[in-house]
Amino acid sequence: MSNHILIKADKLSRYYGENCAVNDISFELKRGDVLGFLGPNGAGKTTTMRMLSGNLAPSKGQIIINGVDIIENPKEAKAELGYLPEQPPLYKELTVNEYLHYCAQLNRIKRNNIKKALDNAKDRCGLAEMENRLIGNLSKGYQQRVGIAQAIIHSPSIIILDEPTVGLDPIQIREIRNLIKELGQEHGVILSTHILPEVQATCNRVQIINKGKLVFNDEVANLAKQVKSSSLIIGLHQPPTISELEALPGITSVERLQDDRLRFYYGNNPSPAEMLAEKAVKDSWGLYELTPDLVSLEKIFVDLTCKEPPVQ
Ligand code: ATP
Repeated sequence: MSNHILIKADKLSRYYGENCAVNDISFELKRGDVLGFLGPNGAGKTTTMRMLSGNLAPSKGQIIINGVDIIENPKEAKAELGYLPEQPPLYKELTVNEYLHYCAQLNRIKRNNIKKALDNAKDRCGLAEMENRLIGNLSKGYQQRVGIAQAIIHSPSIIILDEPTVGLDPIQIREIRNLIKELGQEHGVILSTHILPEVQATCNRVQIINKGKLVFNDEVANLAKQVKSSSLIIGLHQPPTISELEALPGITSVERLQDDRLRFYYGNNPSPAEMLAEKAVKDSWGLYELTPDLVSLEKIFVDLTCKEPPVQ
């Protein structure tokens, strides 16, 4: 059932002594969502993930996992959760099969169902050929797959992954991202990361946390719309001087780029594109390019996380 709410976090806060690591955040995760949880170092991602996975009690607020309050009924709620912490809890001296068998028992899978659960997890994570290898001898990418396999061994409806691609090479990263996308089709996935392209590559929704506060929560596709572009790139064969250009109405500053094109900043003024095109023709500047400056995801992130959070 799509649209089914798997996680409802309501007004969550967590203090470490005086330090408020997570400050009054609320959000939902639906089936079919791959939610990217993005934020700079120390923003509160891991603290939130640990609360959602039932490993850390919130100071305030409520977490409902598939209809069950995780504080009131932790066992029942945790049965719906699979969690890959930042440091995967792997026993390197065990083989993949031995370790997953142990995880299946920890998750109270009935003895008759264990083989099926193992086969399914190994199959989903591409581990069948590695089943008899010692975990300590596997590459980091395969170890991460084992970490994900232990998180899905009991077929939870929700999978929580804390920085799942840290330390992997580009090929391993691509494989793990594809696996996450696949898992998102049947489960709800929350993925914490500070890697922006990871969110673009794997997630349909994104929320950004900064200094413990949620500063953005929407579809990935809407992220770019958040920050209005306020610059234009212009190419001129015979440009006037920078100071002449900066004196034009509505222009706040002009910057020469390495390839001699010019970037016009116009702040909150309306776009000067039409005025510049007319002026370029009238004064024979030799206009060969006029394009809005694309807002990079990096800029959006910096804009959203460099603003102070709203005062309560
Ligand atoms: P990173 O990307 O660096 O892992 P994060 O977004 O996961 O960062 P958290 O680890 O949740 O951030 O930390 C949020 C804040 O809480 C930080 O200021 C951190 O120093 C503090 N903090 C985290 N864990 C503890 C702890 N066990 N005791 C005291 N303070 C803590």
